[in-house]
Amino acid sequence: MPSLQLPRYSPTLLPVKETWAMTPSHKGSGNSIRPIEFNLVIESPPLICYGARTQSTGALLSGLLFLYVNAYSIHMKSVTLELVQEITVKRPSVGSCKDCVHHVNVLKRWDLLKNPTTLQRSEYGYPISHLLHGDMPASTTSSLACVSYYLRANATPLCKDVAPITLTRALPLYRSIVTTDVRRCLRVFPPTSLNATASFPAVAFPKSSFTMDLQLNNVLNREKNTRWQLRKLSWRLDEISKLQHSGCDKHSDSPEQLEDVKAIAFNEMRKGWKTDYSNDGRIEAELEISTLGDIPMCCNVLAPEFGLEVEHVLTVEMLVLEEHMPVNGSRQSNPTGAARILRMQFSVEITERGGLGISWDDEVPPTYDDVPISPPGYDRIVPAQQIPTQQIEHLTIN
Ligand SMILES: [Zn+2]
Repeated sequence: MPSLQLPRYSPTLLPVKETWAMTPSHKGSGNSIRPIEFNLVIESPPLICYGARTQSTGALLSGLLFLYVNAYSIHMKSVTLELVQEITVKRPSVGSCKDCVHHVNVLKRWDLLKNPTTLQRSEYGYPISHLLHGDMPASTTSSLACVSYYLRANATPLCKDVAPITLTRALPLYRSIVTTDVRRCLRVFPPTSLNATASFPAVAFPKSSFTMDLQLNNVLNREKNTRWQLRKLSWRLDEISKLQHSGCDKHSDSPEQLEDVKAIAFNEMRKGWKTDYSNDGRIEAELEISTLGDIPMCCNVLAPEFGLEVEHVLTVEMLVLEEHMPVNGSRQSNPTGAARILRMQFSVEITERGGLGISWDDEVPPTYDDVPISPPGYDRIVPAQQIPTQQIEHLTIN
């Protein structure tokens, strides 16, 4: 790729991690000015894949890698930049095998300087751009595995006096499912005639809260002359991480199926719901599901290529007691002795907030008011010899 030799340019230096491999011969030199240095400027907005992994059009990355040659001239062997995806398994099947723990995929490699070249003292900028596919797993830190992305630049000089330099920059990738839809679910509890309807937002965000409207129907049984009373209502949100870990080439004979369940939040209510014994009778409750606690959580992730999945399940339990219908308006309840725990499970889609951003393919190209609709007409062109237009003969075609 050709480099752009740019005029002196002082971008706002973003924090980067630069490793400067000091060889023993350098340590004694006491020279603090590095012969070559890197800087990486990311020009694209935060990388967010909008939509589910099967629908998202991905996220666009663009930026500029700067190589500063501070020495008079340097013989360079190569300059490369790689976009790396790294999967780190937190519970490897084989103790400390590095290849079992870290799975590194180079998604894109730019050979910015392929052939040995002499670079004079200047600043060299290499523009880069790449489309990260929409089905990529977002950056994740789950209890079983981590997914991360980073850019890694390497500059290798030919002369032994100058050590190679490496720069790595973390590149978080997010996924955001933007919707205001409401999910409605129905659960039945045979052999009783009870059923429950629940409605809650189709997506929720980490460290936030949302409301679930719950309604228990058919609490009256007129044939038996009994009714159900709600005594306790509890909920728990679990983060379920699954990992099918096959190990590296040497240890692939012992694949593991790991699962970890972590309770993110829970609560219980003993009052605060409404009971209506008209018609078939119903009980209405509103659950405030809050994940604002201290327990770290991540978004839903599905990465079948790595056997990794993180999902969230909300379990709601209602403890109901059966009682005889009171007679003559008496308020005293007379239990039948029957009790049930009505257990319901709902999958909750935890996704990143979309913010004000939109997907790159939904962006409208800029419009320029100053650009005329068509090129200027011939009468506005002044001829090279400055001939006034009235001196040009009119041509009559017979
Ligand atoms: Zn291994």
